[in-house]
Parts: sequence; C-alpha cells; structure tokens
Amino acid sequence: FQYPAPANEPVLSYAPGSPERAGLKKQLAAFKAEVADIPMYIGGEEVRTGETVDLRPPHEIKHKLGHFHQGKESHVKDAIAAALAAREKWANMDWEQRAGIFLRAADLIATKYRFHINAATMLGQSKNPFQAEIDSACELIDFLRFNVHFLSEIYRQQPVSAPGIHNRMEYRPLEGFVLAVTPFNFTAIAGNLPTSAAMCGNVVVWKPANTQVYAANIIMKVLIEAGLPAGVINLVYAGGPLIGDICFADPNFAGIHFTGSTGVFQTMWKTIGQNIHKYKSYPRIVGETGGKDFVLIHKSADAGIAATALARGAFEYQGQKCSAASRAYLPDNLAADIKSKLVADLKTMKMGSTEDFSNFVNAVIDEKSFDKIAQYIENAKKDPKAKIIAGGNYDKSVGYFIEPTVIETTDPNYVTMCEEIFGPVLTIYTYEADKFDEILVTVDSTSEYALTGAIIAQDRYAIELATRKLANSAGNFYINDKPTGAVVGQQPFGGARASGTNDKAGSMLNLYRWLSARSIKETF
Ligand code: GLU
Repeated sequence: FQYPAPANEPVLSYAPGSPERAGLKKQLAAFKAEVADIPMYIGGEEVRTGETVDLRPPHEIKHKLGHFHQGKESHVKDAIAAALAAREKWANMDWEQRAGIFLRAADLIATKYRFHINAATMLGQSKNPFQAEIDSACELIDFLRFNVHFLSEIYRQQPVSAPGIHNRMEYRPLEGFVLAVTPFNFTAIAGNLPTSAAMCGNVVVWKPANTQVYAANIIMKVLIEAGLPAGVINLVYAGGPLIGDICFADPNFAGIHFTGSTGVFQTMWKTIGQNIHKYKSYPRIVGETGGKDFVLIHKSADAGIAATALARGAFEYQGQKCSAASRAYLPDNLAADIKSKLVADLKTMKMGSTEDFSNFVNAVIDEKSFDKIAQYIENAKKDPKAKIIAGGNYDKSVGYFIEPTVIETTDPNYVTMCEEIFGPVLTIYTYEADKFDEILVTVDSTSEYALTGAIIAQDRYAIELATRKLANSAGNFYINDKPTGAVVGQQPFGGARASGTNDKAGSMLNLYRWLSARSIKETF
C-alpha cells in the first residue's frame, strides 16, 4: 500500500468574524466552565488514583482548569505490562490497518476536535490562537499523515532478487516497549513521539510533561476514538525519575523517544548505559534536547527582514521553542537601523491572556521557568557588559508574564549568548561588518548546541560562506528567514551536538529508529 505525500493541513486564520474564531471561543468558554478530571489510560482503562495535581492556565493562575491523577510505581509497571500484552497482536497486524487508525485520528483533529486541541493548548500552555493552530492542530495532523507516507516508503524499499533467489526485507517493530517522554511546548510533539513509534508496530508507555497534560488527554481520547487498540499507547502521569527508573530497569525496554532538556537526556542515557546488560536488545535512544539558536546578519542584509526574523524568531510563544532565536549578531553598518526596527516591532506586541486574541505574547509556562528567566534579566540589569534595550519587566501576580526582552551585550561570550534560557529573552551583539570570517568562527564556537540558525544576507557569497562554515552549527539552517517554524514534510527538524541525536522528527530518518529489519533469503 502506497500512501503518497499528503498536502500540509491548511492553517485557519481565526480572523475577526470568521466561523473558526467563533468555534474556538465557544470551546474556550466550555473548557473554562468545567473542572476536568483527567485519568491515566492504562491497557485501555481509565485509571484514577485520587492523588491529583491541579492544572491552571499559566496566564490566569487563580483559575483551576482541572486536575490529573498521579500514578505510583505500580501504575508504571501496569503500563509496561499492558503494553507488552498488546504487543504481539499489534506488531503482527497488517500495516494498512495500523495506518488507518492514525489517518483517522488526523481527520478527527482536522474536522471534529480542532478547537478542542487548540483551546486546550491555549489554556493549558498559554499559547496564542494562531500559534496553537499552527503548532498544535496543523503540525500534529501533518505528523500523523506524513509519517504514514514515510513509513509506506520505507516498507517499499526492498533488496534485489536473482534467478533462484528471492530476497525480502521485513521492517519489524522493536522487541519490547518504547518510552515516549514529551515536552510542554508543542502539543504536536507530544502527539508525535508516541504515535510515530506506535505506527511502526511498537507498543508505548507515554509520559507527558505535567504542564501539557490538559492537551495530552485530548490527543489520547482522539486516538481511542480513532480505534487505537487497548494497551498500544499507555498514558501515565508520575514523576519523571520514577518512570525512568522503572522503565530503564525493565529487560523489555526497547527505546526512548524524548524531547526535553539536555540534562535529563544525559541522565537517562547514563542510566540506560548502566542497565545495558539487562536488555534483550540495545535500546534506541532518540532525543531532541534544546538549543541556543543564532541569527547572523550580514552587512548586505535587508534590515527589515533581519528585524522581523528576530522579533518573530525570538518571541513567538514567549521564546519557549527549542528553535527560538536567542543570540543575534548584528553588523555595525546596520545595527542601529535593525535595533530601532526591532524595538518598534516589540512595542506592537500586546501581552496578556490567550483568550484575548489580540495578545501576541502570553505567559511563560510555570513559576520555576518564570523565576529562572527573571533571574537572567536581573543579572543583566546589574552587569556592565549588558544593557536592556527593550522589555525587562515581569510580573507573576495574575500569571507568569515576562515582557519580550532584548539584552545588548559587548561580550560575545556573555552568559545569555551561551546558555539556553527558554523564554522571551534575545541577546544581541554588534560585530565589525568587515570581519565576517571572524564572526562565523564565533557563531560556531559560542554555544554547545546546534539546533537551528539563520543567515540574513543579500550577498550570495556571504550566504554560501555561512552555509559552509556553519555546517555543524545547526541541524535546521534558514536563509533570510527566522529560525523557527519548521513545517512537517518541508523542513525535517532536529539538531546535533547538545541539541540531540538529529533523528529528524517527521521524516524517514526518525521512523527507521523504531524499526528492526530482518533480511529474508529464500532459494529455489
Ligand atoms: N519544530 C519547532 C520549530 O521549528 C521547534 C520544536 C521545539 O521547540 O522543540 O520551531
């Protein structure tokens, strides 16, 4: 069965007066009017432990959206057991049947649950409606449909045969279960990590970030409605270390599909290494783990394109994207112009609740994150090497609001040029426009990460030079664009160095990791 490349899901505009705006507002009101009681899903059963954690919109922390039931050690073990019990039937099911479930889930999101998934992402993760539409509904739909396409391409790849010899390649799922650990910032990633492994015939234990549970619950319900058999994906809520300890100690642990911090990923990798003798097979370790993404502006750049790349790249979704522009290099011939355009642009960005659609900037995810970001800003205020040229204020009385903040530094190695902040903070450094070769070396060597980056230039030689010299500095490289907003099927996403294993999400490279191939030779 061949499933040709689908078209990307069209993005709805949510313009004033549009039916989709009315539909989304209605769903927001409906969610606000109820207190959701969110269970775990283990072996097809809803599991409630009575030990609950409250969910509140980051932009309105006094409002309770609902709570989820937290599991214990026994629930994690139950989830593994349920996954293993489901494995044989699922792994041996015709691939066309499995594909049908995920394609149906994509259609259900597109037609029936679009507003649910967007409203849940807006309320639970404080994303504005336009970002929610792109990052949650459309990207998740695209992941589901494109992965079916990529998998159909993989299954078709067969070795040559010869007279008297019939050769075949069988792309089997891994022997065991896969653990999916998903982040708060993209509902689409939360949906992609468990489903991409499951689509290949694997069974999954899924642990989402606590701050993303509200939308994760809807994804799970959609998958169940689409016909996902019991036990194929088991959604559990428990402390990350607890889940990790139990899953990594299990002989059937077959792989981890992770998006989150570098520190957590490295700890997991070490634990997996220590347990390596326990496993039936070497586990697949796939992770996307952060970034310190650059925008390098050449003296030939269009200052308007540069300012927009910075404003949008750094401050969409409050900078809480692994891909967010967070360090920029401005040539001295254009620096004043770019800065004034950027600062003017930021003044038009209204900040406040996601429920008011005119707000571009909403709250950061939680108090821990708010405090960490605020500390970077306070330190910059006191440091003679740094100057705040826009924003710099924050307030957590109503929600975790931090103004889009631009720090200008005279030191290319200033702390906010190097460390991932994961918030609405951009640091800029002005270099001598004629020393482009030198700045290329600085861009490459300043950060341990290599996720995304952009060159803004009109001069084709400069573009070519940057593309060559920064070959290992970013897994996703953008020319005259912001470094965020990869589209499934168009820009496969992922980076190397401390940014992850670069198994590009939404591509064949990623899906190969969830398959264990068997070569079969028959002679006659
Ligand atoms: N794929 C997203 C982008 O291109 C970023 C994903 C992430 O933050 O993990 O902006």
